[in-house]
Amino acid sequence: MLASDIIDALEGFAPGCYQESYDNSGLQVGNMNSEIQSALLSLDITEAVLDEARQKGCNMVIAHHPIIFSGLKRLSGNGYVERVVEKAIRENILLYAAHTNLDNARAGVNSIIAEKMGLQQTRVLQAMRGKLLKLYTYVPKEAADALREALFGAGAGAIGQYEECSYNSEGKGSFRPGAGTHPVLGTAGGPREWVEEVKLEVLVPQHLEGKVLRKLKEAHPYEEVAYEFIRLENENPDLGAGLIGTLPEAMDGLAFLSHVQQVLKTGCIRHTQILQKPIQTVALCGGAGSFLLKQALASGADAFISADYKYHQFFDADGHLLIADIGHWESEQFTPELFQRLLAEKLPTFATLLSETKTNPVHYFCC
Ligand SMILES: [Zn+2]
Repeated sequence: MLASDIIDALEGFAPGCYQESYDNSGLQVGNMNSEIQSALLSLDITEAVLDEARQKGCNMVIAHHPIIFSGLKRLSGNGYVERVVEKAIRENILLYAAHTNLDNARAGVNSIIAEKMGLQQTRVLQAMRGKLLKLYTYVPKEAADALREALFGAGAGAIGQYEECSYNSEGKGSFRPGAGTHPVLGTAGGPREWVEEVKLEVLVPQHLEGKVLRKLKEAHPYEEVAYEFIRLENENPDLGAGLIGTLPEAMDGLAFLSHVQQVLKTGCIRHTQILQKPIQTVALCGGAGSFLLKQALASGADAFISADYKYHQFFDADGHLLIADIGHWESEQFTPELFQRLLAEKLPTFATLLSETKTNPVHYFCC
């Protein structure tokens, strides 16, 4: 299978355009047109992971954390990043990462943590803005139905759980075909034409902009299609950082921490003071999620599961919720399993293997 087919399948769930501006998700080492035998799925890419890939006959590693995060100026074996990249090139192993685009995807990193926790009625904690477009186009009345169908077919017109949403207003459009045109109405170099038209409005998620535009041009009868894409500031409720949901039954603080430890397979949990209130609404964010504490508090969460909290940030819970810092690796350890599920859904015959290399650089010494 071509690497591009595997990447298309993954980016169908987590389009690259939804990664954060500081990120470097995507193909890191290798060529899109390479033939891939099988892929090893890992949270991180280390030399040990590359050794495992080679031993298991995998010529692609799909990871959550990009190995190349900031610019590389040389490959001289200095530091683990340079060594990993050099080794991958030498051993002809493709490296691909889906990082914050997978964090921000509705069915991404946080959804599998929520599933393990047994959370219900989940929703995105901090929805992304500026990732929705409004398409306006003007079409002769008799061609409006077919064009609307084509746009819906390309994925335009969804608002939350509602599909095929559009707004249609009727009016008159004018144009004068220039010499050398091939107008569907009127004649080249002829007089001004007036046409009964429909102004059709639909929402388009940013990652479908190219596909919708191609469909628009294919399905629209005019030689020159009149259209506008406008970027909206609206939130996209299906996209963003963190998730919040509810446990089927409330539990006290200690029972909650014990549940977290058991289902999320953590060792030590760093946490704030146990509160005298039951825990039922739970916010979470895989990886470093302390930036979401305000949203977790505002959303009425009783607890917030994340990682990489600093000492002073624990004070910010201020007796309102229980922060549970379970460790970065621990919070994202299910991501390779998520990759495996997503790929099995779209490419059921493609072989993937979960890495058995434990890449967590953090070790614990507990008494
Ligand atoms: Zn991470």
